[in-house]
Amino acid sequence: MLRLDALHGGYGQASVVRDVNLTVAEGEITALLGRNGAGKTTLLRTVFGLADRQGGRVTLAGRETPGGRPELLARRGASLMPEDRGVFPTLTVEENLRLAGVRGFTPAVDPYELFPMLTDRSRQAAGTLSGGQKQQLGIARAMVSGSALIAVDELTQGLQPSLVKDVLAAFTAIAATGVRILVVDQHAGLLLDRCHQAVVLEAGRVVFTGPCGPGTRHELDQLLALT
Ligand code: ATP
Repeated sequence: MLRLDALHGGYGQASVVRDVNLTVAEGEITALLGRNGAGKTTLLRTVFGLADRQGGRVTLAGRETPGGRPELLARRGASLMPEDRGVFPTLTVEENLRLAGVRGFTPAVDPYELFPMLTDRSRQAAGTLSGGQKQQLGIARAMVSGSALIAVDELTQGLQPSLVKDVLAAFTAIAATGVRILVVDQHAGLLLDRCHQAVVLEAGRVVFTGPCGPGTRHELDQLLALT
C-alpha cells in the first residue's frame, strides 16, 4: 500500500499541504478531490519528490522513501502522470509506448483496445497530438509500465465524458489486479461512481476521508458543492 503519515509539503518556505494522513490500498482506486487551489497537485508532487517535503513520511509497499528522490519512487514501481501527461513530444506514439513498456508484462487491459487512437496514430509524433489524445497516451504508458501505483493528475481534463467512463472502467480492471490507483480531479461526478475511497482536500488539509458510495455521496456532494 501507499501510506502518507503527517505529510507536509510545498515550495521552499511556502507550506501548501499540511499534516496529510492517507492510505491507498492495494487494488483500490482513491479519488483525491478538492477545489481549484486546494493543494491536490502539490500533494502528488510532494509524494513523488517533486515538491519540497517539509515533514512526514511516504511509504510504498512497506518501504519508506525519502523526499526529493523522484527516481526512487519510480524505481519502486510508482508512476505519476502529471497534468502535461509526461509524454515525449518528439517520439512517436508507438515509441512512447515501447519506452514505457516492460518486457514480459501484459497489462490487465490492452491499451490498444481501449484507445483505438493509439493504432491510428502510431507513427505520429506525440507532441502533435491533441490534449485528449496525449491524455490517452499517458494513461496507456502507465498501463504498460507494470506500475504498482498509478497516480493521475486531473484525470478528466481534456477527455470527453465517454472516454472518461472507459478509462475509469479500465482503471477498475487494473486495480482488480492489485495495482493502487490515485486519481486527482476537480470534477468528481463520474469518479465517485468508480472509486473505493474519497479524500477531500481543503486549503492543504484533509477534510474528508471515507468510502465512495451512496452512504457518503451526499456529504461529498456538499463538500464539493456539486449539487
Ligand atoms: P488545481 O486544481 O488548480 O490544479 P490544486 O488543488 O491542484 O489546484 P495546487 O496546484 O497544488 O492546487 O496549488 C495549491 C497552492 O499552491 C496554490 O495556492 C498555489 O498558488 C500554490 N502553488 C502551486 N505551485 C506553486 C509553486 N511552484 N510555488 C509556490 N506556490 C505554488
